[in-house]
Amino acid sequence: MSGVDSKLFVISGPSGAGKGTLVARVRERMPELGLTVSATTREPRAGEVDGVNYYFISEEAFSTKVEQGEFVEWAQVHDHRYGTLVSEVESKLAAGHSLILEIDVQGALNVKKRFPDAVLVFIEPPSLEVLEQRLVGRGTESAESLSIRLANARHELEFADAYDVRVVNDDLEQATRELATILSTYERN
Ligand code: ADP
Ligand code: 5GP
Repeated sequence: MSGVDSKLFVISGPSGAGKGTLVARVRERMPELGLTVSATTREPRAGEVDGVNYYFISEEAFSTKVEQGEFVEWAQVHDHRYGTLVSEVESKLAAGHSLILEIDVQGALNVKKRFPDAVLVFIEPPSLEVLEQRLVGRGTESAESLSIRLANARHELEFADAYDVRVVNDDLEQATRELATILSTYERN
């Protein structure tokens, strides 16, 4: 079939692999792509804005949303809970645009069960050493949070084979072009 259909893209990969950076760069080139804003119980980092980066909510509010079925999926990731809101997915897909969910591996596999046509994209760092350098360089994590994220990275990388496509984020421009090509190819097919 020719033409462009709205698709659900799920982007995962270890913390520090460059998901946020790549998604922002691809959206500059493909501004019609929507991005869901997840809810989380973690504290905002410097510069993060409630309702833009995440909906930052309390543990209690998160539990209420779980009980009321407000999440497409949710998971405990590192040391906090994160979830994709049904309202975000429905309103953004209804607008007729493709949508990116930037979520962890557990969430990605749950989304695939619920939406079998979702396209799962795994972003990999060139190595664990580079991953560590990037996370340290980002300067957002405490020593404790850094070590949890690095320990979890090894486990997350084992899920890469379950994804439809993998992108190694070594050279940023090359990885951006690769990701943009993947998304537009799936939109046309
Ligand atoms: P994630 O969203 O996967 O946790 P980020 O997008 O925050 O990762 O990237 C982690 C850090 O690595 C950031 O400081 C970002 O600027 C940097 N970074 C991302 N991609 C590259 C790349 N290809 N080369 C060098 N640094 C990168
Ligand atoms: P961070 O704290 O670095 O923003 O995100 C930590 C991890 O949580 C990342 O792997 C990110 O993809 C994941 N994450 C963010 N939002 C969601 C969500 O709604 N659901 C799930 N399952 N994971 C999420």
